[in-house]
Amino acid sequence: MAQALLALGGNVGDSRSILARAVAMLCDGLDVRLLARSSDYRTPAWGVTDQPPFINLCISAETSLDPRALLHRAQGVEYALGRNRAKEQRWGPRTADIDIIAYDDLALNEPGLTLPHPLLFERAFVLLPLAEIAPERMIGGRLVREAAAKIDAAGIEHLPARVGV
Ligand code: ADP
Ligand code: MG
Repeated sequence: MAQALLALGGNVGDSRSILARAVAMLCDGLDVRLLARSSDYRTPAWGVTDQPPFINLCISAETSLDPRALLHRAQGVEYALGRNRAKEQRWGPRTADIDIIAYDDLALNEPGLTLPHPLLFERAFVLLPLAEIAPERMIGGRLVREAAAKIDAAGIEHLPARVGV
């Protein structure tokens, strides 16, 4: 079994509900078992700023899938929730984006899969939720808690849990 950290985000539709479904679909309890889930965060759009804010969260999961199979699973969930890469703009609006942030301590740089995720340390919307569930995790020689404390988190809002959703 490996331990994977994943980041989820979306800004089309009822993103909090959609991402809750994404977590449930991704973590079926068999091949992928949910270990921890962060709160939801509301984040001003990054990259392409002329679009609604995103909801972001991170999870950690135990998995028997190899990294490729896990990515495939994640992309299957994105599609099931209505994502259509062919029609979207880079960093533009999307219903659900699921990125693998880290997979054990594996370093990989292949077409279509880079681990740890190359933009991890530039993205407050990943580091904040990640620090909630894995503060002591070292990724690429850096401690998640320290990276989260240093990054500019302006505009990112921690959202209270929703009851019954
Ligand atoms: P974004 O950069 O906003 O996440 P996409 O979700 O469309 O955009 O991802 C673009 C490509 O990034 C995917 O086709 C996927 O193969 C690749 N990729 C490389 N490394 C990773 C990773 N660690 N997690 C998820 N996707 C990755
Ligand atoms: Mg992605």
